[in-house]
Parts: sequence; C-alpha cells; structure tokens
Amino acid sequence: MATPLTADRLIAILKAEGVRVSEYSGWRTRERDDETGKPFGPVHMILNHHTGGRDALDTVAKNGVPGLPPPLAQIYLARTGVAWMCSKGRANHAGLMARNAYDSFLNESSTHPAPSKSSGTVDGNDLSYGIETENRGDGADIYPRVQYDAWVRINAAFCREYRWTAESCGCHKETSVEGKPDPRGPVEGYGTRGRFEFTPAQFRKDVAERLRHAASWSPPTTTSPTPAPAPTVEQRLTALEKRVTALEKE
Ligand SMILES: [Zn+2]
Repeated sequence: MATPLTADRLIAILKAEGVRVSEYSGWRTRERDDETGKPFGPVHMILNHHTGGRDALDTVAKNGVPGLPPPLAQIYLARTGVAWMCSKGRANHAGLMARNAYDSFLNESSTHPAPSKSSGTVDGNDLSYGIETENRGDGADIYPRVQYDAWVRINAAFCREYRWTAESCGCHKETSVEGKPDPRGPVEGYGTRGRFEFTPAQFRKDVAERLRHAASWSPPTTTSPTPAPAPTVEQRLTALEKRVTALEKE
C-alpha cells in the first residue's frame, strides 16, 4: 500500500504541509520507468541529498549528467524554499543502497547502521523518493532557514501521507555503498534554534516534532514571554471594593 502518488496528490500533500511548489515543464511525464523497464514503487522511504552545486534545477529535472539520464530526483528544493516538481516516477538519485541500511529505514528502526556492502544491496531508485536540496556541499555553503524548514515539511508530508514515522527519512550518506557524503553543511537556523550543522539524527527529530502537529503547523521562531496570569474574580472584586471605599471617603 505504498503506491507512488499521482502528480496531483503529490502537489496536494506538499501544499497542505505549507510548502511552496513550482512545476518544472514536462515533469508529469518525465521518469525512468519505461526506459529501465522497472516501474517505480512500492515506495518505502525518502532519501535526502545535497546537489553539490548551485543552480542545478535544469540538471536535476531535464538534463541529467553524463552516464546518468534525468530526472535525478522527484523534487528539487531550491535555496528559496521552493520545491520544484521534477518527476512523480522513477528517478536516478539513490543508486545502490546497502541492504542493512535500507532495512533499518524500511523497518523504521530507531537506529541506522552504517551502510555495509557485504549485507547485500538494493536498487534505491525502485523504492525511495529523492529530494535534491540545492547546496554546494562543501561544508561552508549555508542552508537558509527557509530552505531547511521546507525540507522538514516535505519529508513530513510524505510521512503523514503514508503513515510513516520520521525513521523513514534517510540521507544518501546513510545508505550509499559508494561513500556518498551528502547531505551535509551548516544550517542558518530552525524554529528557535540558531545556526547548527546538518545531521540526519537532528533532521529526523525535526520531522518527528512536525508530525506531532497538524500539517498547517509552523515551528515557533521566538521564545514568547510567559504572560501574567489573569486576575481572579476575587482579586477584581477586592480592587473594586477598594475603589468604592476610596470614593466614599472623598
Ligand atoms: Zn546524493
């Protein structure tokens, strides 16, 4: 029952989660299902990436790279926080996943072992949604606040739709048998948190927190002061009596 979503449903769940969505021209029919003879799905997890460069939308959605035909992800998440729809079908993003790592996401384990090729491999493009997040990946390029917030929302949208936990949200470096390093780098901030380094564990915590709220929720961005408690009826009566007494003395 983890059938890939239709194009319209995909857009609907993202918008419900507060994500700004743009549709890349031709995205509804661009996929790798027919070309490989391997239909996309059933899907069991989300795989998160960084692009390794800026302005890679055309590459991910339409052009691909030598040896890797497009699309290169289902979603391209720009620095602006806009989610560009690139495909609803099979895409070339995951490569081979180590079986032990994949199983930990499939089973939504609370821990995820380092990928071990000796455990066997699965074709990650068959069974995972890929999100390519625009970032140079050099460890210095900062994920803007608005981009990280959208990233959490996109992952939560899939989890909410499929009734997955945040333990279904993986990162390429957690599954790759080729030693992929992504995603990584500093994040400008999230909610009341200032700058921090991206880690898969913190990311899943943020997705899990989001899933405890309605899709329309936004994380608080400032710590609001505790309001003074409203006066009780007795306190208000006492105050009135004092004023009356004071008036009578005049
Ligand atoms: Zn990657």
